[in-house]
Amino acid sequence: MLSIVTLYPEALGTYGDGGNALALAHRAHARGYRVESLAISLGSPLPAADIYLLGGGEDGPQRQAADALRDDGSLASRVAHGALVVAVCAGLQILGQSFEVAGGRIAEGVGLIDAETRRGAQRRVGNAVITVDGRYVVGFENHGGDTQLGGEAPLGQVVRGYGNDGAVDGVHTEGVWGTYLHGPVLALNPWLCDAVIERATGESLGPYASVADDLYQARLAALL
Ligand code: GLN
Repeated sequence: MLSIVTLYPEALGTYGDGGNALALAHRAHARGYRVESLAISLGSPLPAADIYLLGGGEDGPQRQAADALRDDGSLASRVAHGALVVAVCAGLQILGQSFEVAGGRIAEGVGLIDAETRRGAQRRVGNAVITVDGRYVVGFENHGGDTQLGGEAPLGQVVRGYGNDGAVDGVHTEGVWGTYLHGPVLALNPWLCDAVIERATGESLGPYASVADDLYQARLAALL
Protein backbone atom coordinates (compact mmCIF):
# COMPACT_ATOMS: atom_id res chain seq x y z
CA MET A 1 0.00 0.00 0.00
CA LEU A 2 1.22 3.48 -0.87
CA SER A 3 -0.32 6.38 1.01
CA ILE A 4 -0.15 9.90 -0.40
CA VAL A 5 -1.28 13.05 1.38
CA THR A 6 -1.61 16.35 -0.47
CA LEU A 7 -1.28 19.16 2.03
CA TYR A 8 -3.50 22.22 2.03
CA PRO A 9 -4.62 22.37 -1.63
CA GLU A 10 -6.77 25.43 -0.87
CA ALA A 11 -3.55 27.35 -0.09
CA LEU A 12 -0.95 25.49 -2.16
CA GLY A 13 -3.02 24.51 -5.18
CA THR A 14 -2.60 27.58 -7.36
CA TYR A 15 -0.15 26.16 -9.89
CA GLY A 16 -1.70 22.78 -10.68
CA ASP A 17 0.67 20.79 -8.48
CA GLY A 18 -2.23 18.66 -7.27
CA GLY A 19 -1.51 16.69 -10.44
CA ASN A 20 1.56 15.25 -8.69
CA ALA A 21 -0.74 13.13 -6.52
CA LEU A 22 -2.61 11.93 -9.62
CA ALA A 23 0.61 10.99 -11.42
CA LEU A 24 1.98 9.12 -8.38
CA ALA A 25 -1.28 7.26 -7.83
CA HIS A 26 -1.60 6.35 -11.51
CA ARG A 27 1.95 5.03 -11.93
CA ALA A 28 1.96 3.18 -8.60
CA HIS A 29 -1.42 1.63 -9.35
CA ALA A 30 -0.17 0.54 -12.79
CA ARG A 31 2.58 -1.45 -10.99
CA GLY A 32 0.08 -3.22 -8.76
CA TYR A 33 0.22 -1.07 -5.63
CA ARG A 34 -2.90 -0.32 -3.71
CA VAL A 35 -2.91 3.47 -3.37
CA GLU A 36 -4.61 5.67 -0.82
CA SER A 37 -4.50 9.34 -1.79
CA LEU A 38 -6.14 12.10 0.18
CA ALA A 39 -5.92 15.83 0.59
CA ILE A 40 -6.14 17.62 3.91
CA SER A 41 -7.01 21.22 4.56
CA LEU A 42 -5.42 23.92 6.72
CA GLY A 43 -5.89 23.13 10.39
CA SER A 44 -6.52 19.40 9.96
CA PRO A 45 -4.01 17.13 11.70
CA LEU A 46 -1.52 15.37 9.42
CA PRO A 47 -2.44 11.71 8.96
CA ALA A 48 0.32 9.12 8.61
CA ALA A 49 1.54 8.77 5.00
CA ASP A 50 4.40 7.53 2.88
CA ILE A 51 4.49 10.69 0.76
CA TYR A 52 3.45 14.25 1.66
CA LEU A 53 2.97 16.66 -1.25
CA LEU A 54 3.31 20.43 -0.99
CA GLY A 55 2.56 22.59 -4.03
CA GLY A 56 3.02 26.17 -5.12
CA GLY A 57 0.98 29.09 -3.89
CA GLU A 58 0.81 32.83 -3.49
CA ASP A 59 2.62 34.68 -0.72
CA GLY A 60 -0.34 35.07 1.68
CA PRO A 61 -1.64 31.50 1.47
CA GLN A 62 1.88 30.10 1.69
CA ARG A 63 2.30 31.90 5.04
CA GLN A 64 -0.92 30.27 6.23
CA ALA A 65 0.41 26.88 5.13
CA ALA A 66 3.72 27.43 6.98
CA ASP A 67 1.83 28.45 10.14
CA ALA A 68 -0.46 25.40 9.86
CA LEU A 69 2.49 23.01 9.45
CA ARG A 70 4.32 24.53 12.43
CA ASP A 71 1.14 24.39 14.54
CA ASP A 72 0.66 20.73 13.62
CA GLY A 73 4.28 20.03 14.51
CA SER A 74 4.38 16.42 13.31
CA LEU A 75 6.03 16.65 9.87
CA ALA A 76 9.63 16.46 11.13
CA SER A 77 9.01 13.30 13.14
CA ARG A 78 7.13 11.70 10.24
CA VAL A 79 10.11 12.40 8.00
CA ALA A 80 12.47 11.06 10.68
CA HIS A 81 10.42 7.85 10.60
CA GLY A 82 10.79 7.43 6.85
CA ALA A 83 8.16 9.56 5.13
CA LEU A 84 9.13 11.54 2.03
CA VAL A 85 8.06 15.14 1.41
CA VAL A 86 7.89 16.31 -2.21
CA ALA A 87 7.71 20.10 -2.19
CA VAL A 88 7.26 22.50 -5.10
CA CYS A 89 8.06 26.24 -5.12
CA ALA A 90 6.08 27.82 -2.24
CA GLY A 91 6.05 24.35 -0.70
CA LEU A 92 9.84 24.30 -0.89
CA GLN A 93 10.17 27.85 0.45
CA ILE A 94 8.07 27.21 3.56
CA LEU A 95 10.17 24.18 4.56
CA GLY A 96 13.20 26.44 5.13
CA GLN A 97 13.92 28.58 8.16
CA SER A 98 12.32 31.70 6.70
CA PHE A 99 10.97 33.22 3.51
CA GLU A 100 10.32 36.80 2.42
CA VAL A 101 6.94 37.72 1.04
CA ALA A 102 5.84 40.69 -1.08
CA GLY A 103 6.26 43.91 0.89
CA GLY A 104 9.53 42.75 2.44
CA ARG A 105 8.08 40.91 5.41
CA ILE A 106 10.08 37.89 6.61
CA ALA A 107 7.88 34.94 7.55
CA GLU A 108 8.94 32.02 9.71
CA GLY A 109 9.27 28.69 7.93
CA VAL A 110 8.90 25.14 9.15
CA GLY A 111 12.67 24.61 9.56
CA LEU A 112 12.69 21.12 8.08
CA ILE A 113 15.50 22.06 5.69
CA ASP A 114 18.41 24.46 5.96
CA ALA A 115 17.27 27.12 3.48
CA GLU A 116 16.38 30.82 3.37
CA THR A 117 14.26 32.51 0.71
CA ARG A 118 14.43 36.22 -0.10
CA ARG A 119 12.92 38.35 -2.87
CA GLY A 120 15.01 38.09 -6.01
CA ALA A 121 15.97 40.87 -8.40
CA GLN A 122 13.04 39.92 -10.65
CA ARG A 123 10.20 37.44 -10.89
CA ARG A 124 11.29 34.26 -12.67
CA VAL A 125 8.65 33.04 -15.10
CA GLY A 126 9.13 30.50 -17.87
CA ASN A 127 10.10 27.03 -18.93
CA ALA A 128 12.93 25.41 -17.03
CA VAL A 129 15.14 22.35 -17.36
CA ILE A 130 17.40 20.89 -14.70
CA THR A 131 19.57 17.78 -14.53
CA VAL A 132 19.22 15.35 -11.65
CA ASP A 133 21.92 12.68 -11.53
CA GLY A 134 22.54 13.22 -15.24
CA ARG A 135 18.87 12.97 -16.25
CA TYR A 136 16.71 15.86 -17.40
CA VAL A 137 13.71 17.24 -15.53
CA VAL A 138 11.45 19.67 -17.40
CA GLY A 139 8.94 22.10 -15.92
CA PHE A 140 7.68 25.61 -15.57
CA GLU A 141 8.63 28.15 -12.92
CA ASN A 142 6.91 31.28 -11.65
CA HIS A 143 8.32 32.77 -8.46
CA GLY A 144 9.60 35.98 -6.92
CA GLY A 145 11.74 34.30 -4.28
CA ASP A 146 15.39 33.19 -4.54
CA THR A 147 16.42 30.35 -2.23
CA GLN A 148 19.85 29.85 -0.66
CA LEU A 149 20.57 26.43 0.75
CA GLY A 150 22.68 26.02 3.87
CA GLY A 151 24.51 22.71 4.08
CA GLU A 152 22.07 20.67 2.03
CA ALA A 153 22.35 19.44 -1.54
CA PRO A 154 20.14 20.80 -4.32
CA LEU A 155 17.91 18.49 -6.31
CA GLY A 156 19.49 19.46 -9.62
CA GLN A 157 21.64 21.75 -11.75
CA VAL A 158 19.92 24.43 -13.82
CA VAL A 159 20.25 23.97 -17.59
CA ARG A 160 17.52 26.43 -18.56
CA GLY A 161 15.58 28.84 -16.36
CA TYR A 162 16.51 29.95 -12.84
CA GLY A 163 15.60 27.52 -10.03
CA ASN A 164 16.89 28.58 -6.61
CA ASP A 165 19.52 31.02 -7.82
CA GLY A 166 20.30 30.58 -11.50
CA ALA A 167 22.70 27.68 -10.85
CA VAL A 168 20.92 24.99 -8.85
CA ASP A 169 17.34 23.99 -8.19
CA GLY A 170 15.51 22.65 -5.18
CA VAL A 171 16.78 20.53 -2.34
CA HIS A 172 17.55 16.84 -1.93
CA THR A 173 17.77 15.30 1.51
CA GLU A 174 16.85 11.84 2.72
CA GLY A 175 13.31 12.97 3.50
CA VAL A 176 12.71 16.07 1.38
CA TRP A 177 12.82 16.37 -2.40
CA GLY A 178 12.09 19.95 -3.41
CA THR A 179 12.05 21.85 -6.70
CA TYR A 180 10.85 25.12 -8.18
CA LEU A 181 9.38 23.27 -11.15
CA HIS A 182 5.64 23.06 -11.74
CA GLY A 183 4.05 21.21 -14.60
CA PRO A 184 2.98 19.24 -12.55
CA VAL A 185 6.58 18.07 -12.36
CA LEU A 186 5.81 14.40 -11.62
CA ALA A 187 3.36 14.21 -14.53
CA LEU A 188 5.84 15.81 -16.96
CA ASN A 189 8.76 13.65 -15.85
CA PRO A 190 7.67 10.01 -15.55
CA TRP A 191 11.13 8.80 -14.50
CA LEU A 192 11.14 11.25 -11.56
CA CYS A 193 7.64 10.13 -10.55
CA ASP A 194 8.90 6.55 -10.49
CA ALA A 195 11.96 7.58 -8.46
CA VAL A 196 9.63 9.08 -5.83
CA ILE A 197 7.60 5.85 -5.68
CA GLU A 198 10.78 3.75 -5.43
CA ARG A 199 12.12 5.92 -2.61
CA ALA A 200 8.77 5.74 -0.77
CA THR A 201 8.27 1.99 -1.17
CA GLY A 202 11.91 0.88 -1.04
CA GLU A 203 11.21 -1.29 -4.09
CA SER A 204 12.36 -1.14 -7.71
CA LEU A 205 9.69 -0.56 -10.31
CA GLY A 206 9.46 -2.31 -13.63
CA PRO A 207 9.05 -0.25 -16.80
CA TYR A 208 5.71 1.34 -17.60
CA ALA A 209 5.45 2.79 -21.10
CA SER A 210 2.83 5.47 -21.64
CA VAL A 211 2.14 8.62 -23.62
CA ALA A 212 3.88 10.52 -20.80
CA ASP A 213 7.23 9.25 -22.13
CA ASP A 214 6.54 10.67 -25.60
CA LEU A 215 5.44 14.01 -24.15
CA TYR A 216 8.56 14.13 -21.98
CA GLN A 217 10.81 13.53 -25.01
CA ALA A 218 8.92 16.12 -27.06
CA ARG A 219 9.25 18.74 -24.32
CA LEU A 220 12.95 18.03 -23.92
CA ALA A 221 13.51 18.35 -27.67
CA ALA A 222 11.68 21.70 -27.68
CA LEU A 223 13.44 23.11 -24.62
CA LEU A 224 17.08 22.07 -25.06
N1 GLN B 1 4.88 33.00 -3.69
C1 GLN B 1 6.15 32.41 -3.98
C2 GLN B 1 7.05 33.26 -4.87
O1 GLN B 1 6.55 34.03 -5.66
C3 GLN B 1 5.97 31.03 -4.56
C4 GLN B 1 5.32 31.03 -5.92
C5 GLN B 1 4.99 29.66 -6.41
O2 GLN B 1 4.71 28.75 -5.63
N2 GLN B 1 4.97 29.48 -7.71
O3 GLN B 1 8.25 33.16 -4.77
